[in-house]
Amino acid sequence: MRNVSPWREPVHSTGTMGEPRGRGRFGAYGGRYAPESLVEACREVEEVFREAWVDPGFRGALAELLALHAGRPTPLTPARRMSEELGLRLYLKREDLTHTGSHKINNVLGQALLAVRMGRRKLIAETGAGQHGVATATAAALLGLEATVFMGERDIERQALNVFRMRMLGAEVIPVTTGSRTLKDATSEAMRHWVGATGDSHYCVGSVVGPDPYPWMVREFQRVIGDEAREQCAAALRTGVPDHVIACVGGGSNAAGTFAGFADTPARLTGVEAEGGAGAARGRLGVLHGCRSLFLQDDDGQINQAHSIAAGLDYPGVGPEHAHLRDLGRARYVTVTDDEAVGAAIRLARTEGIVPALESAHALAWVIRAADGGELPAGSTVLMTLSGRGDKDISTLKELL
Ligand SMILES: *Cc1c(COP(=O)(O)O)cnc(C)c1O
Repeated sequence: MRNVSPWREPVHSTGTMGEPRGRGRFGAYGGRYAPESLVEACREVEEVFREAWVDPGFRGALAELLALHAGRPTPLTPARRMSEELGLRLYLKREDLTHTGSHKINNVLGQALLAVRMGRRKLIAETGAGQHGVATATAAALLGLEATVFMGERDIERQALNVFRMRMLGAEVIPVTTGSRTLKDATSEAMRHWVGATGDSHYCVGSVVGPDPYPWMVREFQRVIGDEAREQCAAALRTGVPDHVIACVGGGSNAAGTFAGFADTPARLTGVEAEGGAGAARGRLGVLHGCRSLFLQDDDGQINQAHSIAAGLDYPGVGPEHAHLRDLGRARYVTVTDDEAVGAAIRLARTEGIVPALESAHALAWVIRAADGGELPAGSTVLMTLSGRGDKDISTLKELL
């Protein structure tokens, strides 16, 4: 890690978390590194997204789906007992309360509407924990589309509940048996499949990764988390803005959506990665899945396998905008271990009556450690995004309790 003060003064230019520079660049990261046929398909997605995002008709249709189907806005819950124990004022942005149980639905509803606008009848998706697959299967059913979901064999084993949910919703789940049989391999397989199917299929990427325009577009679809939280904080906090904004980071979509609402405030932004999947904290420059970013890799540039108890954080890289925010010093990235995350999940269940996803428990684990260690001074106001609910992790947790 770099030996500098973790936070510099926030950059107030409209550039921070605005539109990327030409060809999807976030500083030294981003871009569109893909075979020619996918470059063309990405160009079309970008064009249609640009058009849709300034079209009040599209925005209205999406807002309606988010409200009536997904249950937005989600509450901002003060975690009262936990706050007292930690000496903080901790507020939870409750993405676990959305329909399907995680923030993934925000992005998927946006992309599914975009697919319809492009005349595509099929959605392709990759999934790790299964939450993005479930969200994609849900949106497909809702809008009368077909869904094909690629999932690593190892994740299929540990996320049986979500595999069943996808099939129940009518999606085809394709097991991926290559490599580490987790999210990285499922993503490669989904991209390969898209190459031969761009005519009738939209690739619904699940995080702020992949070739331009996905990192930007997915962040814009997830911005609703940060925008709502900003308004809710304005009402709940005397200062209007929390001292700290914290979210877990796999590819980085729930964090990017949350950070986007606070990029122009003095709030300090912290992304929490899994110790074994710390792309932003410990990755090196590379190209994977169509974009230039930070990835865990060996001296030959081979991508290392990620390891996390939380399938949604089991990705060896991070979205390009997070790499850029790290370079700018606008956000910082820290890591926690599997054990810390499990401990935090149990503690939240027992102090607040909320069973979080193991991914979200990583963010809380850092809050707990930072409160105990004084990095979050007593009395600080802390907004933490609770990205999802823990039902999917029950079988993992059952073995540990
Ligand atoms: C997918 C997932 C994550 C990680 O993805 P990001 O793109 O980093 O947000 C985190 N939490 C939950 C509950 C998830 O399903």
